[in-house]
Amino acid sequence: MGCCHYYAPSDGGDGAFSIDLSAIVFGAGVLREAGDHAAALGLRRVALLTDPHLAGLPHVAAVRDSLRAAGIDVVVYDEVRIEPTDESFRAVARFASEGSFDGFVSVGGGSVIDTCKAANLYSTYPAEFLSYVNAPIGGGQAVPGPLKPHIACPTTCGTGSECTGIAIFDLLAMRAKTGIVSRRLRPSLALIDPSCTYTLPRNVVAASGFDVLSHALESYTAVAYTRRKAPARPSLRPMSQGANPWSDLGCREALTILGRHLERAVADDGDREARSRMMWAATLAGIAFGNAGCHAPHGMSYSVSGLVRDFRPAGYPDAEPIVPHGMSVIVNAPAVFRYTAAACPERHLAAAEWLGADLRGAMPEDAGEVVAGRIVELMKATAMPNGIAGVGYATEDIPALTEGAYPQRRLFDNAPRAISRDDLAELYRSALKYW
Ligand SMILES: [Zn+2]
Repeated sequence: MGCCHYYAPSDGGDGAFSIDLSAIVFGAGVLREAGDHAAALGLRRVALLTDPHLAGLPHVAAVRDSLRAAGIDVVVYDEVRIEPTDESFRAVARFASEGSFDGFVSVGGGSVIDTCKAANLYSTYPAEFLSYVNAPIGGGQAVPGPLKPHIACPTTCGTGSECTGIAIFDLLAMRAKTGIVSRRLRPSLALIDPSCTYTLPRNVVAASGFDVLSHALESYTAVAYTRRKAPARPSLRPMSQGANPWSDLGCREALTILGRHLERAVADDGDREARSRMMWAATLAGIAFGNAGCHAPHGMSYSVSGLVRDFRPAGYPDAEPIVPHGMSVIVNAPAVFRYTAAACPERHLAAAEWLGADLRGAMPEDAGEVVAGRIVELMKATAMPNGIAGVGYATEDIPALTEGAYPQRRLFDNAPRAISRDDLAELYRSALKYW
């Protein structure tokens, strides 16, 4: 596929890339190891964070019982908001500050794990809320030092939050999603138990599977790290450093697994093999995007989920309208990859092939169409919404969607091709409907 030139040196570009990882334990049943690992980390009193839907389910009980059996004092906080907000982050930070904890355990999806990162941060280094939030919305202040140990136990096969130093939330005053990004936020240990996926509703597996797909495809097609301006000091090298040879490894394997197992994992909730493989793909893609960074499909997703009016997907228990994260991402993806393919067609073609596309006769100029076509095929096969119109938007919403997403420069600047405000509006227009 002749991708070696992708990392050719460029004037003023970075000459090195970094690799940051959470420690990971992966295997069916590992939630029951939580107590021993926590004790080994020296923990004596922990906050266990989860959401109200999971609170009564066996995963939380397994972790809590394991911690208590290891002699650890556990206080459960089960009010984590799905799609957290600055308000919900503040509430849990107060709980964390008042509890004299020496460590944290999160059991849930990305919302729970992200909330736990914020609780750990604000209780360890209290500060005015916006100070750690990404610039330009917040102050972008660096996290002053190491946080307390955090054991993350993901219960869905999507976000990869257990492997990243990113915490995303809705800033209510601006109706915008933004986040806090720091290596210090990365959980100390991820306990990844694929058996958590066996009971997930099909629609949840589909949406989170497409989140994984987009993490891998965005990381693989991100701008090369050698084309990102070298940092002023080596310690300031960003985590969203662009595509690099390390993240490429995880992307390739994750996309291959998705090409083979996504449809199976959604179609048959008894297919444990396919669902376990999806969990492994989520882990690999999480490691990849934690070291490369996502780009436009995620950047665009923030306003797709933030401006939701009345979309209520099957399989999600919330009474409030919601565009689940993976759905809000994938509805943009075919439009974006049609656009970005011109920047690195060989990477788009390789990714399409790993996802199972037939490349016979495909030329570099077909790359965008080939990869978009394969994504659309998978979306149809798993009953995903048909573009942003499928989650309730129309042409007249494009200005608001564009204004909502445009400030996400951290993500758009990581795309392999420049994206202006007009380009972004055009991308939303192309994302309205795919079939
Ligand atoms: Zn995502």
